[in-house]
Amino acid sequence: MTGRTDGLAVGDIAPGRQAPAVLGALFVDLEGLRARYECLRPGCPHHLEGPAYSTDRDEQGEPIGVAGLKTFIDGIKSQHLTQYHRSTR
Ligand SMILES: [Zn+2]
Repeated sequence: MTGRTDGLAVGDIAPGRQAPAVLGALFVDLEGLRARYECLRPGCPHHLEGPAYSTDRDEQGEPIGVAGLKTFIDGIKSQHLTQYHRSTR
């Protein structure tokens, strides 16, 4: 398989070929200060989380900033898996 980027190879799964172990992809744009998580599990009811931006507001109406973005990045995968797949793996 050529042109494959480890951990991010998606969309080139040939029929009959076993899906890669990676069933989700986290996209982080540090220049645009945004991030999103795309779930690739079959039957997922909620394929896309985010995008979250550093300018998003928290409950106090303050921009979440880079720290808030990092919190999203760190937590979104386990949160998504817990919420939609009842698993943290
Ligand atoms: Zn999912």
